[in-house]
Amino acid sequence: SYQVSIKGVSKFYGNFTALNNVTLEIQKGEFFTLLGPSGCGKTTLLRMIAGFNTIDSGEIYFDDMFINNIPAHKRNTGMVFQNYAVFPHLNVFQNVAYGLKARKFNVNTINAKVEEALKLVQISDMKARRPSQLSGGQQQRVALARAIVIQPDVLLMDEPLSNLDAKLRVQMRSDIKKLQKNLGITTIYVTHDQEEALAISDRIAVMCDGTVMQVGTPEDIYKKP
Ligand code: ADP
Ligand code: ADP
Repeated sequence: SYQVSIKGVSKFYGNFTALNNVTLEIQKGEFFTLLGPSGCGKTTLLRMIAGFNTIDSGEIYFDDMFINNIPAHKRNTGMVFQNYAVFPHLNVFQNVAYGLKARKFNVNTINAKVEEALKLVQISDMKARRPSQLSGGQQQRVALARAIVIQPDVLLMDEPLSNLDAKLRVQMRSDIKKLQKNLGITTIYVTHDQEEALAISDRIAVMCDGTVMQVGTPEDIYKKP
C-alpha cells in the first residue's frame, strides 16, 4: 500500500474556497481520519484523492508518484460511500466480482478472491441475495468487500456508518478497524463523529472551514481543550 502526500491543496467553487492550502502526510498502513463538521471540506478532499474532483492548486502523491493527472480508474483505490452504492440488479457475489471482471481476472481467481473478501466481511452466507434483501449494515459490508477485493493501495471511506443505528455502528466500527489492520491497507476515513474518529483512528486531522486545524493521535486530540 501507499503513503499518501497532500501538499498545499486548494479547491475553489467560484468565489468560495472549499479547501485552503491543505497539507497532510498519511503513512503506509495507517488508519487516518478527516474529522470535522458538515461543510468543512472532508468529502472534497477525499474525492480529490480518489480522482473524482480536480485539484485547483497543490499536489497529491502516492509514494513518490505525482497523481494529480491520473484518472480515477487508474489509481488503485477502493471507495466506500455513505449511501451503500451497491448495484441493485446484481447479487452480492456479482457486486463483489464486478471490479475483478473489469480487470479481466480469470473465473477461478475471481471466485477465490470474492469468497475471501466475503469471508473477511462476514457475509459468505449471503452470496446469492440482492441488495434489496439485505439490511443497511449488510449492504455496507458488500460495499466494503467490493472495495477491498481489488487489493487497493488506498482505501477511502466517506461516512460509511452514518446511516446505521448506534449499536450497529459500534460493531461495524470494530470490524472495519480489525479488517484494516489485518490487511494493512492505508486508509483515509471521513466522519463528523468525534467519538467514532477517536475510537477507530491511528491519527486524525481536525478540519474546519477548508483548513486543517490540528493533526494527531486520538490521545493528542482528546487531551487538547
Ligand atoms: P464535508 O464533506 O466536510 O461535509 P464537502 O467537502 O462536501 O464538506 O463540502 C465543502 C464545501 O464545499 C461545502 O460548503 C459545500 O457546500 C461546498 N461544495 C461541495 N461541492 C460543491 C460543488 N460541486 N459546487 C459548489 N460548492 C460545493
Ligand atoms: P456472467 O454475468 O458473466 O454470466 P455472473 O456474474 O453470473 O457471470 O457470475 C460470474 C462468476 O461468479 C461465475 O463464476 C459464477 O459462477 C459466480 N457466481 C455468481 N453468483 C454466485 C453465487 N451466488 N455464488 C457463487 N458463485 C457465484
